[in-house]
Amino acid sequence: MVDEGRRGIFASLSSAIKGEKRDRKIPVRPPYNDDPDLFHRLCPECEEKPCARVCEEEIILIEDDGTPSLTFEKKGCTFCDACLEACEPGVLSDKRLHYVNAEVEIDVLKCMAWHQSICSSCKDPCLDDAIRFLGLFRPEISQESCTACGWCIPVCPTDAITIVSKPATKGEVE
Ligand code: SF4
Ligand code: SF4
Ligand code: SF4
Repeated sequence: MVDEGRRGIFASLSSAIKGEKRDRKIPVRPPYNDDPDLFHRLCPECEEKPCARVCEEEIILIEDDGTPSLTFEKKGCTFCDACLEACEPGVLSDKRLHYVNAEVEIDVLKCMAWHQSICSSCKDPCLDDAIRFLGLFRPEISQESCTACGWCIPVCPTDAITIVSKPATKGEVE
């Protein structure tokens, strides 16, 4: 798909000049889950962790506690359904949940376009058209349109885009 090629170019350019890790307090989980408790209840016992193996974007990591989380250091989620189909225990089970349960934001202090420099790197890989610019400057993310796919995160030259898990439910530990 042409759009995937476009994403790949931006992602590889950016990851070549960056590489630092991002801090995450609450892990950002894979999509297709409607009960975060299940990550703690079922994933540690899942021996092969097939979700991480089948993800072609290689964005699923396994935490020390045996639960999966997403990393957006190089790529984002394409909602390809592969992890959903691989998850036999049913932690990832609802095909309708085509979004990552997280909030993506632009830090206006770090964003070049908020400081009168021309930059629209984040807009190009956003297939949901969720990043809106006021003229040439001041990009903002429409929370209504954003699926938290994460493709805009690695392409930002100043590391101005953050992703944070939505508030923890019963099983998620802060
Ligand atoms: S395949 Fe399912 S049960 Fe296994 S680690 Fe991944 S999400 Fe958890
Ligand atoms: S939907 Fe596809 S790209 Fe997204 S985390 Fe699952 S396997 Fe990876
Ligand atoms: S703004 Fe949201 S939908 Fe658009 S690329 Fe970033 S995370 Fe994905």
